[in-house]
Amino acid sequence: MKKKRSFETAAAQAGVGADKAFGAVSAPIYTTAIYRYDAFGKHRGFDYSRSENPTRQAAEKAMAELEGGSRALAFSSGMAAISAVMTLFSQGDHILCSDDLYGGTYRLFEKLLRPCGLTFDYADMGDPVAVAKRIGKKTRGVFIETPTNPLMKIADIREVARIARKRGILSIVDNTFMSPGLQQPLSLGADIVVHSATKFLGGHNDLIGGAAIVSDPALGERLHFAQKAIGAVLSPFDAWLLLRGIKTLAVRVVRAQRNAEALGVFLAAHPFVRKVFYPGLPGHPRRELHFSQASGPGSVISFELARVAAVPRFLNALKTVILAESLGGVETLITHPSTMTHADIPVEEQAAVGLTPALVRLSVGIENADDLQSDIAQALRKAQR
Ligand SMILES: *Cc1c(COP(=O)(O)O)cnc(C)c1O
Repeated sequence: MKKKRSFETAAAQAGVGADKAFGAVSAPIYTTAIYRYDAFGKHRGFDYSRSENPTRQAAEKAMAELEGGSRALAFSSGMAAISAVMTLFSQGDHILCSDDLYGGTYRLFEKLLRPCGLTFDYADMGDPVAVAKRIGKKTRGVFIETPTNPLMKIADIREVARIARKRGILSIVDNTFMSPGLQQPLSLGADIVVHSATKFLGGHNDLIGGAAIVSDPALGERLHFAQKAIGAVLSPFDAWLLLRGIKTLAVRVVRAQRNAEALGVFLAAHPFVRKVFYPGLPGHPRRELHFSQASGPGSVISFELARVAAVPRFLNALKTVILAESLGGVETLITHPSTMTHADIPVEEQAAVGLTPALVRLSVGIENADDLQSDIAQALRKAQR
């Protein structure tokens, strides 16, 4: 058997070899909708770019390798990828989900798919006993995020995937927060990994994209059919940007994580910070479980200010840290989940899972750590007044 390339090598050489015509090291951008047939009934594997496009294929091949899967499908957004995956289910099916999901995923499930006849429940995926109890006769899938957004709750990928497999149901992991640089759910037994490629994979806040990655080729075929039938495909330009971003994924993830670890310690010791949610800190619930399935804590930190009323002043006082949605890019961003990313989740449900209006979420980038820390320190000082 051919030895697998290491992660860093696969990332740096993403797209290399895609150009069969001239050997271009940078994968060419094939901005074409259609492909000429060589003869009646005969083409070279490409007929229409919704079905296949060489640049998109290069990005898909790279993502499959990074997640250790057999096949990846690239979509026009993370939500498009999740939507395509959800077409694997049909009316009456029940899907058990993490109880602290990305707001857009929750919105898709509750506002669009529930009226179509799918049902969803939300559970603490870090507790395998509770998960097993919540799986019923109609359950056909489990949908996990770990760490969750924004409360950084840890799910047990191995155990949930094992329970799902035993019951013959699909396990899906949204691996956006960790990226394959830190966590590879397929190797832990999950059936499908989904990504918002907008985040760490792209890494530069310059594209919207998504992906679904699988080990089982038959499942890959079903998802390819869904991708083609729905048509929310990643454009050739964005596929190229994504490949370019992926090339530095390995170094970006490590650097951002180092910055985040330093900021986590600083925030945890700050008197105006009530609580820090970050698996990199001692005392984080299920920290050991996290490190049994991921190689690091990542670079997203949520924290609560001591007073809700101080939140706007704090956010407005930041100069280097950018107030914006999203995460996983080279720039450090901060968001206010309860009014921004998670605004579609009813306030009572936010409160029930512990998402308070005092919470902010920091996506730490690759800037100088001292610059970030002094910016946050001065904003906290102003917020306390
Ligand atoms: C951003 C995000 C999504 C949605 O991806 P888009 O590219 O914005 O459509 C899904 N899951 C998680 C965890 C995310 O952070």
